[in-house]
Amino acid sequence: MKIVLEHLTKRFPGRGKNAPDVIAVNDFTFEIPDGKLVGLLGPSGCGKSTVLNLISGLHKVSDGKVYFDGEDVTKLPAEHRGVGIVFQNYALYPHLTVEKNIMFPMENFKGDKRLSKQEMQSRALEAAKLVQIDALMDRKPAELSGGQQQRVAIARALVKRPRVLLMDEPLSNLDARLRLQTREEIRRIQRETKITTVFVTHDQEEAMSISDMIVVMKDGVLQQIGKPQQVYDSPANLFVAKFLGTPPINVFHGRICGGMLYAGQDAILTAKGVPDQEVYAAVRPEGFILDEQGPLRCMLQGVEVMGRDVSVVAGHPALESTQLRAIIPSTSRVDDEAEAVRFSIVPEKTLLFAKDTELRIDAQLA
Ligand code: ATP
Repeated sequence: MKIVLEHLTKRFPGRGKNAPDVIAVNDFTFEIPDGKLVGLLGPSGCGKSTVLNLISGLHKVSDGKVYFDGEDVTKLPAEHRGVGIVFQNYALYPHLTVEKNIMFPMENFKGDKRLSKQEMQSRALEAAKLVQIDALMDRKPAELSGGQQQRVAIARALVKRPRVLLMDEPLSNLDARLRLQTREEIRRIQRETKITTVFVTHDQEEAMSISDMIVVMKDGVLQQIGKPQQVYDSPANLFVAKFLGTPPINVFHGRICGGMLYAGQDAILTAKGVPDQEVYAAVRPEGFILDEQGPLRCMLQGVEVMGRDVSVVAGHPALESTQLRAIIPSTSRVDDEAEAVRFSIVPEKTLLFAKDTELRIDAQLA
């Protein structure tokens, strides 16, 4: 099912006398195509959960509209929207078995939607098989691992055959290994069921790895929507560029002068088609090549061996932060006793942003 959000806004009244309203979601317009998995991404407090709650109907909108397949559902109560929700704290009933937990939402079906016990059991088993917990139907939640509990929560959301599946930080309570495994599971389940799914996370790697599309938010405002690779390669602004990628992008106070891009005093690339101006020059960690003749001269601070790659930590006077981090193949030799290290810069891994607006500047770098 296609979801359209149109000028969606949510204001919460400020607490205390004369406290201004909190605008949790500000004039949000975007479209979630049918059958896709969309990752809503942004720092804590940027309004991700609020967007999810507006889609589900748990919150009333202050302004704007929500459409499901062209139908205006803005005023439709949550229970009639046909959404399945999975929360971070699985919210299972501790005294019920896995089977009873999964069956629970179907007990409330009314009128012509009412199901016989046999039908409920069969649907519960179908959902349990999908998330691969069908062998654990008689256990209670306390007898399950965190990952298994989360699967029960997903099965419970799926059993209603929702038109939309909404997941709010579903992996946050899992340890690193299980997180990785469960996110792949979510991807598989979504592919199999083809249910339009919105997934909230503050973990950019998680969102990038499983989403068809990511939506990046900041302070309630939509920053960019696109395929993960496209947003990584062509971020709309400096915030998006900094938010995506580990280690993060390295930002220099730069300058375009006579067709050259400077980071401080170092002329690092040629830049065509951009008038002379101050810029932010941002280089992805994989955009540095060790080169004795390279134009970027840095003070070496450390070399961290990470197995497949080596991380070179260095300082530079034009850096916006205290140090840069370059990722180079472990086959490269770095003299970790050296005082300085020189790099040449990969133009395709370098992005320019305007100093005032922080919007990306299109430039032909070479
Ligand atoms: P997190 O990743 O920390 O869960 P989030 O991006 O999901 O954050 P929201 O929970 O949507 O952010 O909150 C967005 C903003 O709205 C925050 O500033 C928050 O304090 C505020 N907010 C959320 N719910 C309420 C409420 N019921 N009353 C007042 N303010 C609220």
